[in-house]
Amino acid sequence: MTIQTPVEANERVYPTPKVPAIAICLDGCEPEYLDVAIAKGLMPNLKRMREEGTDRLAHSVIPSFTNPNNLSIATGRPPIVHGICGNYLIDPDTGEEVMMNDVRFLRAPTIFSQFYDAGFRVAMVTAKDKLRALLGAGLKFDEGRAVAFSSERSGETTLEEHGIDNASKWLGMDVPEVYSAELSEFVFAAGVKLLKEFKPDVMYLSTTDYIQHKFAPDQKGALDFYAMFDRYLGELNALGAAIVVTADHGMKPKHLADGSPSVVYVQDLMDEWLGKDAARVILPITDPYVVHHGALGSFATAYLPDGADQGDIIAKLKATSGITHVMTKAEAIEQFELPGDRIGDIVMVSGENICIGTSEHRHDLAALKEPLRSHGGLTEQEVPFIVNRVIDLPNQPVLRNFDAFFYATTAAAQ
Ligand SMILES: [Zn+2]
Repeated sequence: MTIQTPVEANERVYPTPKVPAIAICLDGCEPEYLDVAIAKGLMPNLKRMREEGTDRLAHSVIPSFTNPNNLSIATGRPPIVHGICGNYLIDPDTGEEVMMNDVRFLRAPTIFSQFYDAGFRVAMVTAKDKLRALLGAGLKFDEGRAVAFSSERSGETTLEEHGIDNASKWLGMDVPEVYSAELSEFVFAAGVKLLKEFKPDVMYLSTTDYIQHKFAPDQKGALDFYAMFDRYLGELNALGAAIVVTADHGMKPKHLADGSPSVVYVQDLMDEWLGKDAARVILPITDPYVVHHGALGSFATAYLPDGADQGDIIAKLKATSGITHVMTKAEAIEQFELPGDRIGDIVMVSGENICIGTSEHRHDLAALKEPLRSHGGLTEQEVPFIVNRVIDLPNQPVLRNFDAFFYATTAAAQ
């Protein structure tokens, strides 16, 4: 196999890594989590990385949700290019609400598949399996140069479909519970072992934000998590890899003083203004794993009925307490780089401490065990971007989290 260099992927030329290039996406890592854990002395490795490498903040894509941002990191491009703008959409062909977690919705090749096609070794570990399927698009496993699996399904992996048989057994760690810190720890532990044994040229590690939805930066659950991460980060660093640590989005408290969720129910408002179910409010955060956020985030899109006075609805929403941004589809395409055929007629964003819901009765808030913390809006778009090498980097908002592989390979090529 000859390695073709450099790799041209999605309008950029990626430098040829001389050492493994790793991007780590810490799901829901509001920068404050790192600041607090470092201040408490729990992250010596990251502290050193910040001091001796390059420490920046970057912007995520909007909506500041998991899948749009993971796919942006994986393709190096915004959602208008790769097509994944949430977990959920109304399929324009059928009018039905469908999950956007199928590879058929992905419109751009991943950087991993392009590095693979150029002859490199590629590895990826995700916490949840829904992401693994999308991120693994285009990888082939018949030459032993690619590994891609999730910790969630690590007990069922096969050489043919994931590049490794029974990853759980290989790692010597049990398959973790889907709602656990261990689901993410498995990702890091697998990353260290892959780096030692599989020796990838390019590797992506992507965790889950279960802990961040549950715990504020100064709470023990969060501090334990980041201390755990730091130990693995130290191992990855010691093995000589060039590493970028970033996040898919931040995380903010979105509850009232009594701990109950702070929500503006937009479907209920639309029903009042336009008649019951005349408009359809879509919350793209909705997915099968809603226990920790009740399907409540800070971004929504709405399909309006024919003949509705769009200007009037936008004006009413703008006058609604808690809603900070309301825009037309055309404005959302322009400002947020969203694919126009996968959003509704209007797009709205709520403020730092409030979420958008559909109808009150449709959210199972009893399942929320802690005061709600969530994301999706502009107040959760600031994320860490830390490199364990000195490289020339812009800052936010020019620097995007989806520049992670470009700068990881840049650092790895030095
Ligand atoms: Zn996330």
